[in-house]
Amino acid sequence: SIVVIGSLNMDLVVNVEDFPKQGETVLASDTLFVPGGKGANQALAISLLGGQVSMIGRVGQDAFGRALKENLQKNNVDVTYTYIDERRNSGLAFISVGKNGDNRIIVSPGANSLLSPEDIEALEEVIAKAKGVVLQLEIPLATVERAVEIASKHNVKVFLDPAPAQVLSRSLLSKVDFIFPNENEAMELTGVEIYDLETAKTAAAKLLEMGCQQVLLKLGAKGVLFARENYYHHFPGFEVEVVDTTAAGDAFCAGFVLSYLEHQELAGAITYANAAGALTSTRLGAQSSLPTREEVLNLLDK
Ligand code: ADP
Repeated sequence: SIVVIGSLNMDLVVNVEDFPKQGETVLASDTLFVPGGKGANQALAISLLGGQVSMIGRVGQDAFGRALKENLQKNNVDVTYTYIDERRNSGLAFISVGKNGDNRIIVSPGANSLLSPEDIEALEEVIAKAKGVVLQLEIPLATVERAVEIASKHNVKVFLDPAPAQVLSRSLLSKVDFIFPNENEAMELTGVEIYDLETAKTAAAKLLEMGCQQVLLKLGAKGVLFARENYYHHFPGFEVEVVDTTAAGDAFCAGFVLSYLEHQELAGAITYANAAGALTSTRLGAQSSLPTREEVLNLLDK
């Protein structure tokens, strides 16, 4: 199966007319409780696309944690290693959405920050048996580093979504098989400003120089630029009616990982991933907008 190691958060979403100024109180709509966290989103996305997936992570011993775990479980994600931790609350994201759709987000990582390198060491056998390991950066970096070391020691393919962007060592980057930054993350990692395909290429070249093996630079509606040593190829995005691109990157990641591990065929996997990302952009929300395998195949057939 595929192992996702990462975050689970409950998103608490309210709509407001105007954001409060300092010291001010405003009234909002009812609160929406939406399961999120990049790790959980990607695990769920893999499962909806028909993959067998396990989620390694931590939630708090509270109603949110139970809900987050149950939500994955009812969608066929294996939660054997999704631990309930009494030391901290579940990861929460406080999201207010203004009348133009702009948002303000505060994240409290909570139990996500307790997922430790020792947790990963204890699961070495689980990782060794996996077809692939999928990581993001919403858990401690030391934990990500340990997971990448263990996976690469066992020749398990490693996929990294470097979000939120942070400084990554050459030793980490060189052990990752595929890295999926979006334009912002690629800029943060390289210092190269991206505004067209040429500058995207420059940033991708810099990532290869920094130790990355294979880069999938996500370009939103423009699709993705694939890069490895001496080879660059642009895969254009699908034309769709965009409603909300939240979680497009998570669906992209899930689609790529699943298709690549199934067929070991790069171009096919990237096209599949572009289709999954595009479908997600046509619907509102994060986990609520993730596509099924059938929906992706339908778009690919068109
Ligand atoms: P992230 O969601 O991680 O910020 P992107 O916004 O680049 O990353 O989106 C990830 C992928 O989702 C893109 O590479 C593309 O395949 C697809 N996608 C995103 N936005 C659109 C769009 N407006 N139209 C078509 N496909 C899209």
